[in-house]
Parts: sequence; structure tokens; C-alpha cells
Amino acid sequence: MLTELEPGSEIVFGDHQVVGVAMDTSSRELPPDGHACAYCDPELRGDQQELDEGDERLLEATRQFGFMVFRIGADDEGPGLAFTVGLAHRFDHPELVCFGADADVLGELVRDLANQVAAGSRFEDREIRTDVLHRAKVRFDALPTDRDAPRREHLGYACWFHRNASFPVLQVVWSDREGRFPDDPDHDPALARWQVSLGALRGSA
Ligand SMILES: [Zn+2]
Repeated sequence: MLTELEPGSEIVFGDHQVVGVAMDTSSRELPPDGHACAYCDPELRGDQQELDEGDERLLEATRQFGFMVFRIGADDEGPGLAFTVGLAHRFDHPELVCFGADADVLGELVRDLANQVAAGSRFEDREIRTDVLHRAKVRFDALPTDRDAPRREHLGYACWFHRNASFPVLQVVWSDREGRFPDDPDHDPALARWQVSLGALRGSA
């Protein structure tokens, strides 16, 4: 059927937009064939829509490895980003998303954080960490669960995987060199275009 997936395999989705996928590289044990559910088993999923090869491989990899990381490069429309698909389903933890200039760096960061989740760590809304990103603080901001538009716009494959149901997401927001986050009025304006503050939508009209 499909060629064998290994940790670190990359899958390309779509013709016009190349989306790299990095997978879990931890040595964590998951039962090789013991997991079958209607989220991540292509057979059980039973979608009406036709699955293309990329879709099938996403589901297979999520079943096999527990989560995947998507990378999308920056372009004229906006910054690059990386996000997980599968944490909310498999580890009962919010999916993670991070925006920035370099999708490869973002992918590594998100994959590292996701591996920590898979190993039992939990990240909380508004939690600040100084040990996960070189020279910057990061803050975990929960996306409002009642707003679908931002997640549909930026997290398309996560929405598809979760069947558009409301699923929890934490945005990993990074600070400037002075430790100021984008919602701080003194945040370095040169960096502002590299982050879309999904969590900052909280409470706005
Ligand atoms: Zn599953």
C-alpha cells in the first residue's frame, strides 16, 4: 500500500503549497497495531470524501506515532508556522502552534514540545517558560474555543483531523530579546510581523 513511514519522514500535501511534516522521534512505545479508532484509522474513519495519499499518510502516521508536526513556510501572506495534529486526540493535551520566520526552526521547537507532552508533560494556559527556546521566553496562550475562524484559517489539517469539532489549542508565543511578548506595547516592532497572536483575540469583539 503506502510506503513505510519512519520517524522524521516528510510528507508533502497539496500541489501549490508544500507542507513538510516531521514526526515524533522519541523512543516512546506505542502499540504497533493496537490502536484503532475512528479518528486515526483510515479504515474506520469512513469519511464521505475521498482521501488522497497525503490524507491517508497523515492518518497512518498519527495512528502510528501519536502526533505529527506540520510546517508551513512564510510567504507574502504572513509568517511561517508549525503545529501539531494528534496531541488533543491521543494525549488529551491541547494541540500546539507557533508562528515565526523559519518553519524549520518552528518545526523543531514544536516537535520537541510535543515529545515532552507525549512523555507526560503538560503545558498550561498563560504558562511562561524560559527553558524551551534559546534566548527567548515563551508563553502558552490558549485559543478561545468559541472562535473557529482563526483555527480554520491557520490550522486546516488539524481541523480536518478533528472533524471541525472544537478542540483545544495552545499557541506558543515568543518574546523579543527584552522578554516582552507581542501584546506588550514595547514589544520590538521589527518582530511584530512574524507572529499572529491568536490568543490575543480573546475577549475582543
Ligand atoms: Zn486514534
